[in-house]
Amino acid sequence: MKPRPLPKIVAPLPDELLSGWLSRLAAANYCNDAELLAHIKIDTAHGTALDLNIDAVAAEKIASAARVAPDVVRSLTFPAMTPREASLTAQMPFQHCPQCSREGLSLKHWRRAWAFDCQVCGARLVQTLGKAGDEQVSEKLTYRARRGAGMLECAARSRGPRPLRRAMRAVAFAMSLKTFRGDPSFALQNPRSEVRLFCLAAIAAARSYPLAKAAIASHSIDDYARVALLRAFEKEPRLLVAVDHIAQRRARSTGPMTAEPRN
Ligand SMILES: [Zn+2]
Repeated sequence: MKPRPLPKIVAPLPDELLSGWLSRLAAANYCNDAELLAHIKIDTAHGTALDLNIDAVAAEKIASAARVAPDVVRSLTFPAMTPREASLTAQMPFQHCPQCSREGLSLKHWRRAWAFDCQVCGARLVQTLGKAGDEQVSEKLTYRARRGAGMLECAARSRGPRPLRRAMRAVAFAMSLKTFRGDPSFALQNPRSEVRLFCLAAIAAARSYPLAKAAIASHSIDDYARVALLRAFEKEPRLLVAVDHIAQRRARSTGPMTAEPRN
């Protein structure tokens, strides 16, 4: 059975995500997202579940309720992605544009791990779990992270796998320094800006300097960091030895108080 058309409709905007448009439709009809989906007879309470995977029946239902073509509904979801693209596209919102969000917008490009500035208004995207003082992140870090984000986009879109592998190795290295565990692609989609910005900046740094040099600029290395380094450089033992050597020399020169005990 087709759902009745909604009393009020709003047209989707370029690059808008299906879940964001559904929220705007709900607001225009004075209800919340769950009530709207129940009215359309879609068996989910969260529109975000439809952004990556919508079946033809659900698309038909939404289309007839909102009086648009089913193709328009489908165009608001992510098309089929390569595994590489999918690993760098967040399933849930992890960042947003403070200005466009106030107008109820939720845009597709915000979900990409490499998105840094809003393509609609130019404001810097902020992490969903950002702290109040996050806008005061040093300009240098922001600048480097923005460059790293641009490099990540090029790497993700390049034909061969090597540029992305290089970028992810830099991220793994940055994670080891921040003792942040998990998958590098998740670190880039981290809802906390301190992790994400540092990892993006590392991509830019790895381009400018060999990673061994990055160890000089880093803090003393603890055991977890060593394990992470081993993983990051497992195919490049010479580079690992160089990083290790620098880290040990640094530990010695900064004195026994800061050096990690080795056994
Ligand atoms: Zn914006």
